[in-house]
Amino acid sequence: MMKKRAVFLDRDGTINRDVGYPNSYSMIEIYPYSFEAVRKIKEAGFLAVIVTNQAGIGKGFIEEKNLHDIHRKLRLDFAKKKAVFDGIYYCPHYELSEIPQYRGACSCRKPNPGMAQQAARDLNIDTKRSYMIGDKAEDILLGLNIQATPILLLTGYGQKSLSRLKKQKVEPAFVAETLKEAVEWILEREQSIL
Ligand SMILES: [Mg+2]
Ligand SMILES: [Zn+2]
Repeated sequence: MMKKRAVFLDRDGTINRDVGYPNSYSMIEIYPYSFEAVRKIKEAGFLAVIVTNQAGIGKGFIEEKNLHDIHRKLRLDFAKKKAVFDGIYYCPHYELSEIPQYRGACSCRKPNPGMAQQAARDLNIDTKRSYMIGDKAEDILLGLNIQATPILLLTGYGQKSLSRLKKQKVEPAFVAETLKEAVEWILEREQSIL
């Protein structure tokens, strides 16, 4: 079967404002353009997959059941606007966690490729023909690790990340002001490739 293409999306600072460690959906402020951006990703034939580091779980700031509740409500709100996520993957680990099941180095915490690789197995994705969008250096490095096209956003921690990446001589394929602009860039690029 032909492999699918995906747009992997960071969550905090990409889809919604980064407010640290939200532990209920009422603390999640979705950027107003995110619904349409995700809908356009889907209409263009890509899967939309969230990959999010949630070390707040390992740090004891939020319980896993609360995160599931946040993601259930997030999915519903997006689905109401015809923007259906194909998967939401999170890393609950924190190296120094006091909770044994979340402690230690893991292969899923971005920039490690674990979450994207799991999604690729679950959903039959060709990561090399996919995109990764996020506001942190870890997002760009993950994109490079899975040989996807990485796009840095200037929302969230984007400005800091841009200078951090410059020091490391790592270049995203594109730097976008917002998720909206990133998706427009993808769609234009796809048009010109065809
Ligand atoms: Mg982020
Ligand atoms: Zn992990």
